[in-house]
Amino acid sequence: MSDLRMSINLVLNNELQSLSAHYPTNNITGTMVQNAAERLERFAPLLAYLFPELEKSQGIIESELLPLTHYSAYASKGGRFWLKGDYALAVAGSVKARGGIHEVLEIVDELSEKYCLMPNNSVIDLLSERALEVLAKYQVTVGSTGNLGMSVGIMAAALGMQATVHMSTEAKEWKKQRLRERGAQVIEHAGDYSQAVEVGRTEALADAFNHFVDDEHSISLFCGYAVAGRRLKAQLEQLQLTVDAAHPLFVYIPCGVGGAPGGIAYGLKEEFGDHVHVFFVEPEDSSCFAVQLQHLDQPGISIYDVGQQNQTEADGLAVPVASQLAVKEMRPRLSGVVVIGEDNLLRNLYLLKVQEGIQIEPSAAASLSGPQAIFDTAEGQQYLQQHGLQEYMHQANHIVWATGGSLMPDSEYQAFWKRGMALDKAYNKA
Ligand SMILES: *Cc1c(COP(=O)(O)O)cnc(C)c1O
Repeated sequence: MSDLRMSINLVLNNELQSLSAHYPTNNITGTMVQNAAERLERFAPLLAYLFPELEKSQGIIESELLPLTHYSAYASKGGRFWLKGDYALAVAGSVKARGGIHEVLEIVDELSEKYCLMPNNSVIDLLSERALEVLAKYQVTVGSTGNLGMSVGIMAAALGMQATVHMSTEAKEWKKQRLRERGAQVIEHAGDYSQAVEVGRTEALADAFNHFVDDEHSISLFCGYAVAGRRLKAQLEQLQLTVDAAHPLFVYIPCGVGGAPGGIAYGLKEEFGDHVHVFFVEPEDSSCFAVQLQHLDQPGISIYDVGQQNQTEADGLAVPVASQLAVKEMRPRLSGVVVIGEDNLLRNLYLLKVQEGIQIEPSAAASLSGPQAIFDTAEGQQYLQQHGLQEYMHQANHIVWATGGSLMPDSEYQAFWKRGMALDKAYNKA
């Protein structure tokens, strides 16, 4: 069927630098990521207290690495396939948990220093009447297509801070509703994601008691996301999976502004250097990171400048301009960007449920097309050849990052699932 949008294309990053020891240091350093990891650990007892669902993990929010054994699209490919289950991350239900929660905790650390809120050097001190009184005076503002708002909003509200989330038209109604239920203030904007962020930024910066979580520039967010790198390394070790020159690791992550996948990629490059190959995945009508890589002489270029419309069911990826912080960090590190036809999203969502029993949102489903870009495109084969990887592909590991979905209402999911099934039928007939 000719009107199915099932294309899978790969834009290689020509600036990818080899030799991990020589990655340039821009804004982010390994020490900063280390500090973020330590902060998330230090606050774990408080998180376990605030969120009963974290009791078992003692306050650490981390997801499982699940083997993909039945997913048919990979059946004839060499190597092993895994799914990183961030869709099930506690509290926030998405990849935004590590970054968003980290930034709120960093704000709390700063306020604690200023007002001496932890006199016993214990995060539990923050539950004292005096600490909660101080925190209640402060507001956290964020612009979001949905999931970042939920991560930041839920964490801030749990600590008694005020939370304001500026949302774009693409944001799903249930996400707005859920945030309001948790006590966050939701402000809706007629325009797209970039405009929502801009309004939030202007408002927050005019108020000394208001902190703006800046999805496009925040170093704190980025470092929180990057903690995923060392945590994944520990998981791979536990599974006795080797990552080295003869056992390459391929990772595919859905990309909106590039902050979450950029942070993860940064963390992974810190751990595995040249042996990890990180690819972002974007829908064809919102491919801001690919567009930016193809126009490096035009920083801040928008998808509208190249005729894209930002129409996609992947609400978390519906972003017109890439984060310049992420672009800067990714130029020497990212392998490439996979750009996929819109209909792959819901078909992947459907197939993952039927074949593996895993329920994710459309944004997360983008990553499932990643491996095909390596195996089935000329650019993918060119990449393997350039890096001398062909002879090792039978012992490669591939990780598709399933970035969100567990908080999605069932009725919403069912509607996507049905459309995905129809697309799969049409695809098989074509
Ligand atoms: C936010 C989000 C992404 C992409 O993260 P960016 O930082 O915007 O690039 C991917 N998947 C899901 C489910 C998200 O919520």
